Amino acid sequence: MNLTTKILRSLSNATLGPRGALFIFHRMSRKDTWSQLLDNGFYLNESFMDEFLTYLSVQGWDFVTIEEAVHRSQSGDFSRKFVNFSLDDCYRDTYEIAVPLFRRHKAPLTLYLTTGIPDNTLALWAAGIEDTLMTRDRVELEEGPLFLTDHASRVAAFQALFSAWDENGAASRYARFCALNGIDQEAMHWKHAMSWEMLETVKHDPYVEIGGHTINHPHVADLDRDQAAHEIGGCLARITEKLGIPAKHFAFPYGRAKDCSARDFALARELGLGSAATTVKGLVYAGQDPMRLPRITLNGKHQSLAMMEAHLSGLTALAGSLKS
Ligand SMILES: [Zn+2]
Repeated sequence: MNLTTKILRSLSNATLGPRGALFIFHRMSRKDTWSQLLDNGFYLNESFMDEFLTYLSVQGWDFVTIEEAVHRSQSGDFSRKFVNFSLDDCYRDTYEIAVPLFRRHKAPLTLYLTTGIPDNTLALWAAGIEDTLMTRDRVELEEGPLFLTDHASRVAAFQALFSAWDENGAASRYARFCALNGIDQEAMHWKHAMSWEMLETVKHDPYVEIGGHTINHPHVADLDRDQAAHEIGGCLARITEKLGIPAKHFAFPYGRAKDCSARDFALARELGLGSAATTVKGLVYAGQDPMRLPRITLNGKHQSLAMMEAHLSGLTALAGSLKS
């Protein structure tokens, strides 16, 4: 542990005392494939998370479910500091890497599932182009061929395609990309998606908690009220229908202040949810509104214990609130 980490830990424990921290991430990669990723901000390295979970345990943090985090904040039970990890969307690596790692640490992991992923109605286009650009030396675009000579050219190509396609007809562009490059879109989907069969095998795992993350991963604030209610309530109903378990915790896609509004927090309450989570940074204290839980996004480009202490001390949330 370096000096910065020690100083941040001492300061925050002395000044903040018991508190809750909710972390969110998306994908997890093994150490040996980490360097090949083209979008590593979207992943966490398994070996770093292994180190971080060990660190939290040694430092006396309780690992809790969202259900327990909400219970403690509602009842004012801050006798111990607690941390929850949630993972949004549900890619295949959730099942193959993240769940086993958290189970080894006896730490619950909350899976906020976008049901269009196991239902295969939502195109995982970013995963598909990343996979293709990582593994081929030449890809065909509508403008002509693109030659990929080294890692830097692959990263640049991914970033260019991602920003051109994001929220601009990505699904149909991806279908054309697959056709041009002879990619079996169905096979590529299951290479990166978590399936209902996988969810079935973990649904009773004491270290897995399953919640919802809409059907189609929209910006909920942009939908009309009926559509928003369908995306939130329909997703939770689908989980119960497929897995036979209650699902009452929810996370808003994207989750920033502009992605979920006061109307949506009220809607979550009216729909009878146990909680709804955002990605607005902050720590959890007594009296936290369960319909707008703050969460701290973990970015694979910033993996260090010093950065994690900055999160646990609320420093990064403070910096975020000063910027906005
Ligand atoms: Zn998401």
